[in-house]
Amino acid sequence: MARYIFVTGGVVSSLGKGLSSASLAFLLKSQGFNVRLRKMDPYLNIDPGTMSPFQHGEVFVTDDGAETDLDLGHYERFTNISARKSDNVTTGKIYSDILKKERKGEYLGKTVQVIPHVTDQIKEFIKKDITNEDFVICEIGGTVGDIESLPFLEAIRQFSNEDGYNKSLFVHLTLVPFLKSSDEIKTKPTQHSVKELRSLGIQPDIIICRSEKPIPLDQRKKISLFCNVRYKNVIETVDVKTIYEAPKSFYDEKLDKQVLSFFKIKPKRKVNLRPWNKITKTILNSKNEVNIALIGKYVNLKDAYKSLDEALTHGGIKNNVKVNMLRLDSEKLKNREINQNLKKVSGILIPGGFGKRGTDGKIMSIRFARELKIPFLGICFGMQLAVIEFARNVLKIKNAGSSELDTKCEPVVGLMEEWDKNGLIIKGSNMDLGGTMRLGSYNAKLRHNSLIKKIYKKSYISERHRHRYEVNFNIKEKFEKKGMIFSGSSPDNKLTEIVELKSHPWFIGVQFHPEFKSRPLYPHPLFSSFIKAAKKNK
Ligand code: GLN
Repeated sequence: MARYIFVTGGVVSSLGKGLSSASLAFLLKSQGFNVRLRKMDPYLNIDPGTMSPFQHGEVFVTDDGAETDLDLGHYERFTNISARKSDNVTTGKIYSDILKKERKGEYLGKTVQVIPHVTDQIKEFIKKDITNEDFVICEIGGTVGDIESLPFLEAIRQFSNEDGYNKSLFVHLTLVPFLKSSDEIKTKPTQHSVKELRSLGIQPDIIICRSEKPIPLDQRKKISLFCNVRYKNVIETVDVKTIYEAPKSFYDEKLDKQVLSFFKIKPKRKVNLRPWNKITKTILNSKNEVNIALIGKYVNLKDAYKSLDEALTHGGIKNNVKVNMLRLDSEKLKNREINQNLKKVSGILIPGGFGKRGTDGKIMSIRFARELKIPFLGICFGMQLAVIEFARNVLKIKNAGSSELDTKCEPVVGLMEEWDKNGLIIKGSNMDLGGTMRLGSYNAKLRHNSLIKKIYKKSYISERHRHRYEVNFNIKEKFEKKGMIFSGSSPDNKLTEIVELKSHPWFIGVQFHPEFKSRPLYPHPLFSSFIKAAKKNK
C-alpha cells in the first residue's frame, strides 16, 4: 500500500525542499522500502525544456525522454532510482491536458473549473503509475502563499481526505532566521507560514526548520506549540558543508523515524550510512586538488550545470581528489584569456549548449586542449564543436560548421532531416528548426581498441540524449585518416555517438549527457576516467 508524503515550502524559496525530499527518500529506501519521488511545478510552461537555464537552471532528462526539473536529478543521485516522465508535472501540463479533454468533449458540456477539474487532474497525477511503492514523496514547487501553487495545495488537501485518507503526511519546510543584531533565532516567519498553510486546510505533521545555527530547545518548543505540531516532529536542518551530508543530518534528527512512527510502520532493516560518511570524508578532506575549466554560456548561474558539477565531484571522489571548477564564460573568452586561463587547468570540459553565442571561445579552447594535449571532455554541443574544430584546423575545411549555427557553412553537423538517402548533408537546406529532439536513453556501440571501450569496459552502453543535430557519420573516413576516431555510433551505424583523438592522452567527445547518470555512490566511468587523466596531467 502506498503512503503519500507531501513536501511544501514556506517563508522563502530555495530552502532545499528537493534535497530534503531526496534525503528522506534515501533513508526510507535504505530501510527496505520502495520509494517514488515526484515534483509538481506551479509554472505555466508545459515542461522546463524551453526555459532558459539562466531562469530555471539545468533541464534534467530522464531515461524515458522527459525534460524535467533539476530536482529530479537530486532524487536520482540520492536514491539511485531512475525518475520517469510521470514523475514531474507543471501547471502548464495540467491545463494543456484539460484543454485537450475539453476540446474532445470529454467534460460532456460541463463548465470546466479549477475545482473540481484542475484539482482532479492533479490528483490523477499523484496516483498515476504507482504499483508496489511503499512511499510516494511529492514535492510541491514554489512557496506557500504564492497564487500559482494554490490549486496544488487544494488538490493535496482533497487527496488526504479521499484516496489518501490515513495514508498522507504533510511535511513543511521553513526558514528559521538568525538575527545578528539581537543574537536570536526567530520563529515568527515559520508561525506565519504554517498559519497560511492551515488557512488552506492543511495542518503540517512535520516541520523541517532550515537554520544557519542549531535551534535551541525552547525555540523548538515554541514552534511546536504555535504551529500545533508534536515537539518530536520539529526537525532542524542546519547548513551542511556538502550536500552529501544531508542524509546523515536528517537521520541524526530522526526525520525518517518520525515518518515511520506516524504511519506506525517498523523499518525492514537498518539504515546504512557508511558509504555516505565515506564520500563526505573524501570530499571534505582530500588533500589533492585538480582544476577543471568548464567553458559555457551559463556559467554565472550555478544551477545551470547542476548534474555536470555533481558528476565532476563524483569523479573526484573516485580519484580521491577535490575538483575545483574554473567557470569561464565562453562569450567573453578571447585568445589571450584562453592562454592565460587554460594554462592553469588540468582538464577542459565543454558542456551541452544551443545557439551561436560563445561558440568562437569554445572552439578556440578545444584547439588549445587538442594541441597542448590537455585532457578534454566535450559533451553534446561540446562534441559537435570538437568535430568542427578538427575539420577547420586539421582537415582545413575552413567553413566547416553546423547548420544550427550557420546555414551557409559546410555542415559536418546537421539535422538528420537534411541528410539525403546516402547520409550526406544537403547543403544549404532550409529545413524548419522545429524538428523533434532526440530525447532520453539510446544505445551506443563502442569500437574495439578505443579509449572509450577501455573506460566503459563494455561493447554497448545506454546513455541519455537531448539534442537535435548530429555529427554526420558518413564523413568519418576523412577524419579518421587524420586521427579523429569515431569510436561510438548508434547500433545501426547511422549516428555518431563518440569521437576521440588517436594521438592525445585523453580527448573524448560524446553526443549524449553522461552527467545525468552519475551518482555519488556510483561515479560515472567517463567522469572518473576524465578526472584521473586530469590528475595525471597536473
Ligand atoms: N545544440 C545542439 C543540438 O541541438 C546540442 C544540444 C546539446 O548540447 N544538448 O544538437
